[in-house]
Amino acid sequence: MPETADVIVIGAGIAGAAAAAHLAADRRVVLLERESQPGYHSTGRSAALFTETYGNRAIRILTGASRTFYEAWADGFAEHPILTPRGALMFAMPGQEEALATAWAELSPDDPRVRRLDAAEARALVPVLRAGSVIGAVHEPDSMDIDVHELHQGYLRRFRQRGGRLVVDAEVRALVSAGGCWTAGTTMGDFAAPVIVNAAGAWADVVAGLAGLPPIGLVPMRRTALTIAPPAGIDASPWPMTLDIGENFYFKPDAGRLLVSPADETPMPPCDVQPDELDIAIAIDRLTRATTIEVARVERKWAGLRSFVADKTTVNGFDPLANGFFWLAGQGGYGIQTAEAMARGAVSLIERGELPADIRAAGLDAATLSPARFRS
Ligand SMILES: Cc1cc2nc3c(=O)[nH]c(=O)nc-3n(C[C@H](O)[C@H](O)[C@H](O)COP(=O)(O)OP(=O)(O)OC[C@H]3O[C@@H](n4cnc5c(N)ncnc54)[C@H](O)[C@@H]3O)c2cc1C
Repeated sequence: MPETADVIVIGAGIAGAAAAAHLAADRRVVLLERESQPGYHSTGRSAALFTETYGNRAIRILTGASRTFYEAWADGFAEHPILTPRGALMFAMPGQEEALATAWAELSPDDPRVRRLDAAEARALVPVLRAGSVIGAVHEPDSMDIDVHELHQGYLRRFRQRGGRLVVDAEVRALVSAGGCWTAGTTMGDFAAPVIVNAAGAWADVVAGLAGLPPIGLVPMRRTALTIAPPAGIDASPWPMTLDIGENFYFKPDAGRLLVSPADETPMPPCDVQPDELDIAIAIDRLTRATTIEVARVERKWAGLRSFVADKTTVNGFDPLANGFFWLAGQGGYGIQTAEAMARGAVSLIERGELPADIRAAGLDAATLSPARFRS
């Protein structure tokens, strides 16, 4: 006989862990994870930034709606602050005048905290930017570093405190619906519940396929990161996350080192993705052209998958083609910073078919996130 629950969540990355923790408040929830270690895939490979100027308007609303919870980390949720000040500087290089004007026009009406900087002001914040490399910038002083491990562990801890059951090494290999109940066949046995939450990250379309559903067109894209030593004799720790406005590369202080990325977006099938040497070389080339930083040695390098649907908005809602099959996917490059709002949204959509009041008041409706947009 399968083990029964009210909800089965597939995938214990940040999306599944956050949703499972919220759902377990008043339901029996089983969280199934294929790997031995939750967070092994995208969640453990991010750049750990929280920025309310990143992504489209829906993403910015979901990010803003997560902030209060991350700032409070209250009621024993975490042992350390989740957010610490960082700032984000989107700088424009010669030739990026139009992109700078567009970013400013889009972001400044929505967020009075963002500031327009001239080249000298941008270089005062990040003195290693070469004089000829900057024509201006948009600065978001309130952007933060996220302690991803603390946040993820906080959700898993809360999930367990609420009686939730995490099963690792449990790859879902079959999904069958009968009599209003889904049965998930896994490498750790069978589990049954009326509601399945598909939080399988880059594998979300694969999991839907197990249930006999067509894909939503999720495209996993490789993104590479590396760390190097900061320049000798310079305290880099106060620098903001520094990103060129066309998102061709970025760098940020990270635990005493500099994290650098070529901001690559290479489409590929879901897998345990590894960095490509060419992307590492591109990152170093872009960094050394735009800054005076010299790279003697790459200390660490890794890659992770950022998975997007066509409109780059996350997917949160029941599939109109299958009763009880709920999507929590397409988190792209913002799954950490939006996790709390996505999880609250999932609970509210499952219970009442609408998003929480604060998210609706900010201007986001359920239809914008719904998988129904791929089913017409
Ligand atoms: C280099 C890089 C930088 C990034 N920077 C940021 C950032 O600064 N800020 C930000 O907010 N986001 C950032 N992101 C994006 C963020 O990491 C992702 O959006 C987020 O981690 C996605 O979480 P997830 O839970 O959906 O996916 P995952 O963490 O990949 O979790 C999905 C889980 O599902 C499991 N799974 C899959 N199939 C099955 C199955 N059949 N059965 C059981 N389990 C299964 C997998 O094993 C996996 O553990 C970055 C990503 C990368 C790669």
